[in-house]
Amino acid sequence: MKVCILASGSKGNSILVAGSKTNILIDAGLSCKQILDKLNQVGVNESSIKALFITHEHYDHIKGAGPVVRKLEIPLFINQLTFQAKNYNLGRIEDVRLFVNGKPFTFNEFLIEPFSVPHDCVDNTCFKISERDSIGKLIILTDLGYPTKLVKEKLKNPSSIILESNHDFNKLINGPYEWWLKQRIKSKNGHLSNLQACELINEIIHPGLKNIILAHLSEENNEPEIAEAEMVKILKERESDCNLYIANQNHPTNWIEV
Ligand SMILES: [Zn+2]
Ligand SMILES: [Zn+2]
Repeated sequence: MKVCILASGSKGNSILVAGSKTNILIDAGLSCKQILDKLNQVGVNESSIKALFITHEHYDHIKGAGPVVRKLEIPLFINQLTFQAKNYNLGRIEDVRLFVNGKPFTFNEFLIEPFSVPHDCVDNTCFKISERDSIGKLIILTDLGYPTKLVKEKLKNPSSIILESNHDFNKLINGPYEWWLKQRIKSKNGHLSNLQACELINEIIHPGLKNIILAHLSEENNEPEIAEAEMVKILKERESDCNLYIANQNHPTNWIEV
């Protein structure tokens, strides 16, 4: 199994997961055209995409969902509360498959484990994804205010983690946002800071962990160099040879072997 982050950040998120036979997308927070362009850029034929999974109803994750599933004629996997959220209009969806957070299910060669995390939306989902016959396990962990006990439990054995490293605390506090928005971001229902991401890795780091991909970096309240330097420091302290990548708003990452 391998993964490529097509786009990551508050202007739109989409992640491509390639299994041994088929490909799936997690989130469609860009326009359909942008997503198809990015698939093209990374050499993936759109007909190989067999499903779209949605984490939550924020615009930067769901904006292109309706057009993408109609264009590619694929099922939309979403949980009930998110599907019913009223802040957006998906349009007509032929094939909606409701999942329940906490209940694992299979799709093609994938085992998907959805679980809830605290965020200011109706029921945000993070996914653990593996393939039936391989040891690689991927966790996609973005848009959460703090790592719960459940999150730490889920992080015990993945080989690859896509981890939110949204903001540098000082840049956020001293930055241009209005105070209510600063409070929202740093609240228990907001986003993980660089420091929180580092503390979490320090706590759950294990020998099988191969890749950390920092994601959902704020363009206003963070710098890739700051997020990277802080994580490198932790990895050095723990004498880890784990690969570190930084996902980006505008360009897809390379393919990362889970
Ligand atoms: Zn988001
Ligand atoms: Zn969100």
